[in-house]
Amino acid sequence: MVNCLFCKIIQNEISAQKIYEDEHTVIIKDIDPQAPNHFLAIPKKHYAGIQDVPGEESNLFGHLFEAIGKVVKEERLEEKGYRLVINYGEKAGQSVHHIHVHLLSGRTMTWPPG
Ligand code: 5GP
Ligand code: ZN
Repeated sequence: MVNCLFCKIIQNEISAQKIYEDEHTVIIKDIDPQAPNHFLAIPKKHYAGIQDVPGEESNLFGHLFEAIGKVVKEERLEEKGYRLVINYGEKAGQSVHHIHVHLLSGRTMTWPPG
């Protein structure tokens, strides 16, 4: 997608600290971390929201969560606890319109989220 920040990161047109990459998914460090560990898991195919993914592409989510699980293990986050967040739309605070899962860890989280 033209002018999509995450598509540009995926295509290496903009640099980012990639900590994981496979055929379907890339996981990067967030540039403005909201926790001691803050990663963004991004499917390589561009969709703005999970509701935009067609049924025949739904294995995108399996690949995404499999990759997150690998990073949780590699970074030893199960010991620390972690939270996954997907923001969609202005009111939820989405700023990049390409599906991404925030993986946050390393501090005590409050509930309900703000
Ligand atoms: P959203 O607000 O859409 O849920 O999340 C977008 C995230 O992307 C934010 O947490 C923001 O800090 C992060 N971000 C924005 N620009 C960049 C960038 O150029 N590089 C990286 N690594 N993260 C970015
Ligand atoms: Zn994109």
